[in-house]
Amino acid sequence: MVHCPECDATFQTPEDVVFVDTDSSLGFISASKRYYTMECAHCGAVIGSGVAGAKSNAGGGAT
Ligand SMILES: [Zn+2]
Repeated sequence: MVHCPECDATFQTPEDVVFVDTDSSLGFISASKRYYTMECAHCGAVIGSGVAGAKSNAGGGAT
């Protein structure tokens, strides 16, 4: 189980965290991927971040 490093809340449900999509605010990120940060819904601390594929046909690999 993940705990917030700031307020020590336990993330048990999807409502306990907030995924902030930064795709639109960061212009240098490719449109084919979505960069997001995960924040605590209780205090707003950033828990982590990552890149999620937004298109199902983007994972095949180009030849
Ligand atoms: Zn928190």
